[in-house]
Amino acid sequence: MSQREWIEKDFYKELGVSSGASQDEIKKAYRKLARDLHPDANPGDTKAEERFKTVSEAHAVLSDPAKRKEYDETRKLFAGGGYPRGGFTPGAGGGFSQDFNIGDIFGTANAGDGGLGDLLGGLFNRGGTRTTSRPRRGADVETETTLGFREAAQGVTVPLRMTSPSPCTTCHGSGAKPGTSPRVCPHCNGTGVISRNQGAFGFSEPCDDCRGTGSIIDDPCVDCHGSGIQNRTRTITVRIPPGVSDGQRIRLAGQGEAGLRGAPSGDLFVSVHVSQDKVFGRNGDDLTLVLPVSYSELVLGTTVSVPTLEGRVGVKVPPGTADGRILRVRGRGVPKRGGGAGDLLVTVKVAVPQKLDDNAAEALRRYAEAEKASGFDPRAGWAGA
Ligand SMILES: [Zn+2]
Ligand SMILES: [Zn+2]
Repeated sequence: MSQREWIEKDFYKELGVSSGASQDEIKKAYRKLARDLHPDANPGDTKAEERFKTVSEAHAVLSDPAKRKEYDETRKLFAGGGYPRGGFTPGAGGGFSQDFNIGDIFGTANAGDGGLGDLLGGLFNRGGTRTTSRPRRGADVETETTLGFREAAQGVTVPLRMTSPSPCTTCHGSGAKPGTSPRVCPHCNGTGVISRNQGAFGFSEPCDDCRGTGSIIDDPCVDCHGSGIQNRTRTITVRIPPGVSDGQRIRLAGQGEAGLRGAPSGDLFVSVHVSQDKVFGRNGDDLTLVLPVSYSELVLGTTVSVPTLEGRVGVKVPPGTADGRILRVRGRGVPKRGGGAGDLLVTVKVAVPQKLDDNAAEALRRYAEAEKASGFDPRAGWAGA
């Protein structure tokens, strides 16, 4: 049963007793009603069944002295003001002061003179959001950097310049003038919230005196006007691990905005852009490379020196290699996070000369005849097509 029902339902009236009735009177009244209204005694009578349920509810609350006390207090609190609409959060219990005195509410200067209805509206119509005041963690910061292809593949340490709020260097983030220090807010005892609890109801508001910070600064720092925060350009050195790819986002814990007055800092997120390379491409951890070769190199075979991220490596092109074939060089790709590296994938691509000198052209013509004579037909597979 919700607290709302407690306010709307008069359990004493349901049982036909006065609000001052003794536990014994309540028990007696209930027994009689239960007997009269019991479904067994009233087969098919839905009205009696409803009444039976209501009476049982009323008895469950009023027969328990602790619950009855809570019920009485709840109804007393809401007696004049009606029930506030929307945004009502039933009591959360934990963390709130267990002592409650109605005088607290009516005695505070902030209660205004709008009467109980206004007061309840202010307390409850907050759309269900509970204001959390402290600690206020610093915001996350986003930045970006562009790395060269090889830097990204191999890992690099880069300086990042950022302008973001940081703890004030004059007051070291306390917000108080050097030599003084903030004092604990006496209104909220440093918690930053004013909490009240009444029976099943619990609610809290940011403290007005300290604006939710929990401390009061009598002598604010002149450089940050008491906020403890300064906009500062800082350069941090960020180690980018090997193997990052274009568009990846790296999180650097605790490198974001400073928290408010000693609260933890936010995180820094670095979006990495990787520029293209003239020679290399990437496919995950594999490094790709197109190796231009001549026709004769493919036919006769050769060993070609190719660049890698570190030094060069000899790649063997076996005799009779087809154009477009991919040759794999193990372990010469992009370093992997857990150690080791991907492979270097070398794609052979025949380069056709646009111009030949007389000598080479003559030799090629002779070669073409010899090729034909040897029976090689590049379109043998098309027979009959
Ligand atoms: Zn300061
Ligand atoms: Zn306060």
